[in-house]
Amino acid sequence: MTTQPIEVTADDARYDALRRGFNQRWIAEPDYIVVATSADDVVAALDKFLADPAHVSRRLTVRSGGHCYENFVSSADVAVTIDVSQMNRAYFDPSMNAYCVEAGATNWHSTTQLYRKAGRALPGGSCYSVGSGGHISGGGYGLLSRLFGLTVDYLYAVEVVTVADGKKAKVTLARKDSRDAALRDLWWAHTGGGGGNFGVITRYWFRDLPSPPAQVLLRSVAWEWKDLLKRPDLFKSLVRRYGQFFEHEQAGTGPDFIRRGYRDMFTLLKLTHVSNGKVGLIVQMDGTKKDSPDRLKAFLDHLTEGFAAGPGPHVAQTVLDRQMGEHSAQRELFIPTLLPWLTATQSLNESGPNRCGKYKSAYHTKAFTEQQIDAIHHHLT
Ligand SMILES: Cc1cc2nc3c(=O)[nH]c(=O)nc-3n(C[C@H](O)[C@H](O)[C@H](O)COP(=O)(O)OP(=O)(O)OC[C@H]3O[C@@H](n4cnc5c(N)ncnc54)[C@H](O)[C@@H]3O)c2cc1C
Repeated sequence: MTTQPIEVTADDARYDALRRGFNQRWIAEPDYIVVATSADDVVAALDKFLADPAHVSRRLTVRSGGHCYENFVSSADVAVTIDVSQMNRAYFDPSMNAYCVEAGATNWHSTTQLYRKAGRALPGGSCYSVGSGGHISGGGYGLLSRLFGLTVDYLYAVEVVTVADGKKAKVTLARKDSRDAALRDLWWAHTGGGGGNFGVITRYWFRDLPSPPAQVLLRSVAWEWKDLLKRPDLFKSLVRRYGQFFEHEQAGTGPDFIRRGYRDMFTLLKLTHVSNGKVGLIVQMDGTKKDSPDRLKAFLDHLTEGFAAGPGPHVAQTVLDRQMGEHSAQRELFIPTLLPWLTATQSLNESGPNRCGKYKSAYHTKAFTEQQIDAIHHHLT
């Protein structure tokens, strides 16, 4: 029995909510939004779109979590948006011998379903409402990634609705080990090629997913801008040492204490504008290792060398007591705190409110240059 996909048109009370995502800069005016609940719904929606000549010059777009930075999903030239957010389960699939995560599953859906049922985790992002459709296909990463790599390192297969001949949609299963080289290429295109480019993803499968540490150690600190404004040299030293630390850690070089290993540590340095009043740092480490508190202290001492000693005004360590970027105040974590991994993930599980934003993500492998550090200081102050 074929079913009709749900279509939300402009006269529907849901339309205004469904024509936008997280970033309120981008609001579309599509003819309708398809709320797809199965791959068959997606096929039907694509076939209908392709059959309508009025759609030729306007775009069809796909949405999972709605966290797109730019106007790839919502813009003036969009005729139809397919929303797959209702396909949001995560489970072990014996027929593929792999964990299946549906494209509409958010980070929080996949985190809770995989961990509660199997003790496994994708090393995905910390923002709870980011969707797998865009997150995984973009090579998503998060707090477990220095330990376990990217989400796509575990990608075994992807189910994607494609329109190979430009006329008819069909469901395609592309595996890492598909016999057909074109299917292997299609799989590969989903390991960082970005969402919305190759078809409509409906399911992902992952093999050999890691188990996160049972406990993690969390700590947050902040430094007041009023102190740092008197000591631009210390602000710059913080940024310089932060980058150098990770460059050394990655390369196995630098001071002995870094070479003891910090692969289990993930940090969020919050270089906020002077109007915020503070800059902050959030740290997560494997809490099952006995030496984690010592390594945490050594890391912070290294970053803040000169903050509390030497000539000139000092810069004191204070509580991270306010919103910084998408992360809310983390007051209680001023004291190093051991928490079960799932509980800690929930504590840092921030997306923040929907907002108008301009974002850029990049992977750094080298420390900031002096020119970059000067530019950061200049623009933040
Ligand atoms: C507040 C915030 C925090 C973030 N934190 C992290 C983080 O910690 N780590 C990280 O790696 N990234 C992070 N990101 C970036 C995020 O991973 C990407 O923006 C991602 O593309 C969002 O996916 P989505 O499905 O939620 O977005 P959507 O807006 O639904 O889609 C994003 C892109 O993917 C396409 N797409 C979506 N679903 C499908 C599908 N089913 N098939 C084909 N294409 C599809 C869309 O067409 C669009 O081009 C963050 C983004 C925000 C806004």
